[in-house]
Amino acid sequence: MASQKPHLLVTNDDGITSPGLLALKDALVEVGHVTVLAPNHNWSASGHVKTMHKPLRVDEVTLVDGTPALTTDGAPSDAVALAFLGIVERPIDIVVSGINRGANLGHDVTYSGTVTAAMEGAIAGVPAVAVSLNSHTHEDFSVAGGFAARLVRQVLDRGLLEGVLLNINVPPLSADQIAGALVTRMGLRIYRDELVRRLDPRGRPYYWIGGPPPTGVEEEGTDIWAVAHGYISVTPIQLDLTAHNVLSTLQGWNLAL
Ligand code: MN
Repeated sequence: MASQKPHLLVTNDDGITSPGLLALKDALVEVGHVTVLAPNHNWSASGHVKTMHKPLRVDEVTLVDGTPALTTDGAPSDAVALAFLGIVERPIDIVVSGINRGANLGHDVTYSGTVTAAMEGAIAGVPAVAVSLNSHTHEDFSVAGGFAARLVRQVLDRGLLEGVLLNINVPPLSADQIAGALVTRMGLRIYRDELVRRLDPRGRPYYWIGGPPPTGVEEEGTDIWAVAHGYISVTPIQLDLTAHNVLSTLQGWNLAL
């Protein structure tokens, strides 16, 4: 008997109706059996969530192309946890999250529902890939989807170190405009958040975190530089957040009780 096709769990943080999710599913059906379990609304910038203080629902839905899928009122990382905890019966070989509307570069990964859903896959002990398109308006996800599918195939063939995931960011360009793909490190994001204070109808203040979109330091070798120069960026990131280069310094401190 031929070996079973790999089983891919596809999720996102833009929600089950996002065209980026559909594009990712479409690209990955060439690689293996795809199960879609994604949040029922937009959770962008929700970070790494584990919902512990309210029940979670899971509903069967169909994507606009008729494909059966599952949706939850939980966060993206909840969706992945639910899948591994028994909502999805068949063992999962890889988690692929996206295709997100908007880049996840540098420190964005700590806010990103897209990336933290992939992190949840790494916590569950499988390889994981997050895919983001550096645009909120570009409607063509085919370059990002095609690249993600080719990379996912390699991850399945070659494996990844435990606790490692790949963060892909794709510039909103056509295939012939893309400069190539680069392996990068996380760059330095520059946030320009501004607090917007307004009054509600009862005269009480409320606040929005507003301001222009983030920029970043365009240092060569980083994800920020790559995407700014028309390259697809592939950054290996890991759950081990230890500042290894500080360990020896800290060991020299006086830690006596
Ligand atoms: Mn998003």
